[in-house]
Amino acid sequence: MKDLYGRKINYLRLSVTDLCNLRCKYCMPEKGIKKTSHSDILRIEEISYIAKVFTSLGVDKIRLTGGEPLVRNGILDLVRDIGKIDGIKDFAMTTNGVLLNRYAKELKKRGLNRVNISLDTLDDTKYREITRLGSLKDVISGVEEAKKIGLTPIKINIVLIGGFNDNEVPSFINFAKEFEVDIRFIELMPIGEAANWAVDRFMSNQTILDNLGELTPVKNEDISSPANYYKIPGSNSRIGIINPISCKFCDYCNRVRVTATGKLKLCLHSDDEIDIRSIIREGKDLKQFILQEILKKPKSHKLEEGQYIKRNMHEIGG
Ligand code: SAM
Ligand code: SF4
Repeated sequence: MKDLYGRKINYLRLSVTDLCNLRCKYCMPEKGIKKTSHSDILRIEEISYIAKVFTSLGVDKIRLTGGEPLVRNGILDLVRDIGKIDGIKDFAMTTNGVLLNRYAKELKKRGLNRVNISLDTLDDTKYREITRLGSLKDVISGVEEAKKIGLTPIKINIVLIGGFNDNEVPSFINFAKEFEVDIRFIELMPIGEAANWAVDRFMSNQTILDNLGELTPVKNEDISSPANYYKIPGSNSRIGIINPISCKFCDYCNRVRVTATGKLKLCLHSDDEIDIRSIIREGKDLKQFILQEILKKPKSHKLEEGQYIKRNMHEIGG
């Protein structure tokens, strides 16, 4: 499946819930969110059906995200269903890791290949401050269990927040070596209700590279990956730099997203959404509909012109 600009679309990100067990300052309002009506949320069978249809169109990489995917009722059934679809080469999940210790074994058994775990600080007090609810030790035990069970390679996603965790880069490098994981620094995006807070805290990822001195770049086989990787000396781990704002990777974009309410998003940084839930519920031809709608995928985002989306990230899944 190709879009109007000849980009091959082979990566689907499925947000399975907009709910979360944390309240990260840059993502969720402190009081949580108004619960979306049950009937508006895609059922597990509907999400598996979407995964099947996209796979039949050439998607071979699927990521489950949220909200927090591990708080979704039926998540293990969904992983089992998607794990059985032929043609998927990479089946991953992005999680905050809080419940990973409990679920890692079952996830692996049902076909999940690997996890990305979001962790913005290695200090327990700061972890509680940024997530407003979480406990660092739960995430660390999740990382350990995922490693033990083989949900690997593990990538740790760190949102770089000025004055908060920019002094923790050396600690994260030690963490990467100790746990044999990749670490990836992501620029803070000023979106949703915390947009103003995020603008004040934004730091370019370039500051990390400037402070680390000479690093050896690692060739990335996947040109659609938004991360530039460098070798961490003395280990097999890598440090990845993701700059959605200061560096564009739209020309190589291969991904689309579906929200928990069944909205197809052709670009993370656009407010445009296409309702596929009603296509499914009305029994229409989803495959044909997607082929026609994919042609509307925008050529690039307009972040550098200050066009930021209004939704919070927990509604889209990152
Ligand atoms: N709850 C899961 C987690 O935290 O990994 C999955 C959903 S979360 C929305 C996906 C990713 O989006 C996380 O790595 C999170 O740090 C990132 N994210 C959320 N809001 C962001 C923002 N304003 N700027 C940059 N990254 C953000
Ligand atoms: Fe939840 Fe993930 Fe958003 Fe944090 S970043 S509030 S863990 S959805």
